[in-house]
Amino acid sequence: MVRVKYCNLRWSLPIALFSLMALWLISSPVQFVAAQSPRSKDDRPNIVIIYSDDHAQHAVGAYGSRMNQTPAIDRLARDGMRFNNSFVANAICGPARATLLTGLHSHANGMTANNTRFRDDLPTFAKGLQAAGYQTAMIGKWHIPTKPNGFDYWAIKRGGYYNSEFETPDGKETSKGHITDVITERSVDWMRDTAQQNRPFLVWISHSAVHRTWAPAGRHLDRYADRDIPPPNNLHDDYQGRNPGASTAQMRVSRDLFPAYDLKLPVTGDQILDRAAARQLDQMTDEQRERWDAAFVPRNDAFAEAGLAGRQRTEWNYQRYIKNYLRCVDGIDESVATVRGFLEKNSLADNTIVIYSSDQGFFLGDHGWYDKRWMYEESFRTPLLIYWPGVTTPQSTSDHLVQNIDIAPTLLEMAGAEPVADMQGESLAPLLQGEKPSDWRNALYYHYQMVEPPGRTSHLVAKHYGIRTARHKLIYFYEHDFWELYDLERDPGEMNNLYPGLASSDLVKQLKNELADLRVQYKDTSGKPW
Ligand code: CA
Repeated sequence: MVRVKYCNLRWSLPIALFSLMALWLISSPVQFVAAQSPRSKDDRPNIVIIYSDDHAQHAVGAYGSRMNQTPAIDRLARDGMRFNNSFVANAICGPARATLLTGLHSHANGMTANNTRFRDDLPTFAKGLQAAGYQTAMIGKWHIPTKPNGFDYWAIKRGGYYNSEFETPDGKETSKGHITDVITERSVDWMRDTAQQNRPFLVWISHSAVHRTWAPAGRHLDRYADRDIPPPNNLHDDYQGRNPGASTAQMRVSRDLFPAYDLKLPVTGDQILDRAAARQLDQMTDEQRERWDAAFVPRNDAFAEAGLAGRQRTEWNYQRYIKNYLRCVDGIDESVATVRGFLEKNSLADNTIVIYSSDQGFFLGDHGWYDKRWMYEESFRTPLLIYWPGVTTPQSTSDHLVQNIDIAPTLLEMAGAEPVADMQGESLAPLLQGEKPSDWRNALYYHYQMVEPPGRTSHLVAKHYGIRTARHKLIYFYEHDFWELYDLERDPGEMNNLYPGLASSDLVKQLKNELADLRVQYKDTSGKPW
């Protein structure tokens, strides 16, 4: 026994020493890594949302624009997935942002219009990602009455296109430059600081371009100067067969654009928007103003000499409006290039999801209009491109019907955060992973119900809700008890209201049943039932 014990003791020391050495050899590389990076690496992807304002799908190259090119946005489409059927729930600025945050239709988040209250108590993607350990920021246009909640950092743009102020948790800050460049620079600065830390980040780069008043950066003012943009076929729409609100809405290119505020003609009056236009010019530096005047003064002189009227004047208005709009789009496209360039140069691109979208689409002379609000395709649709490195197949597309209610659940799933059962949208993650679920929604619900005071600066679009399937759209203008039905395959421009001829058809009965089901599903009791 003693011998055996002795033998054990005799061998146990070298064995123990050998074991300790082996353990040191095995563990030393780990210790070396740990010494450099005290916390374990967090591999969750960063998320960058580049969100523009009023950027219509039909002014995006990747969506087949006939008017312009958007190389950086198109590159995002080539790297990731383009959603061909991407829509909003309510085509107006504040409500679109409230829906993006909450994954809820407007009636459910309180923000049915720009001038209503937002239910700040609701879960949002920002709160969810913050709780999951993400560093979060919102920089740019906010347009919600409460202060940003769920963001570690925020800076709300206040003011126009040039030299805007920002409201931050630390107070007001001034800026110098064109707003798209300033929002981009602030966002890149935040990412540069934040990427140093060992936690993933989410930044919502919320551009205020390409919203009215379409004031491009100096370097873009001569773009499109040497050619005309082809106007849409229905620039001179007469609204035959459409709801009574179509002809009374104040958003006509021919009539409702303000001379100085929108069309960059000389300020001559003293109405509220003339004063706003004058103020915007006053906010420019001398250098910015010189560049501006060099572009517009000669063109305005030529316009004054031409003495245009009627259709010719409408077409001039259209060219002036659309060119400035597209110049603002050029600024947004450069922002996408800058942000992606930053990610690539800083070794962040391989683990950063990049999303490009807009708060809704816009009428680019379609139906004779500018602005949005209607459930018609031009404003109901919105661009949606998502590049998820290692997940999305390059140049992939999805035809599924998706809506801005889907973004919040998608972001939560991308970040591995807790899902929120009450969100009305569906996560797009399966679509991004290449799945083609057969039980995906086959119809979208939409409700616009903004009340505006009567007056020249209001748009006065009739309230409406409706349903859109892959092929048909049925809209109820409940203030007028008026229905519109479109066959989108045969009539993509929605010029021919089929409802009067098909009011008692099986198609209309079925669509009305589905619309009623959607109102129940989304618990929307606002707006008059039929
Ligand atoms: Ca908008």
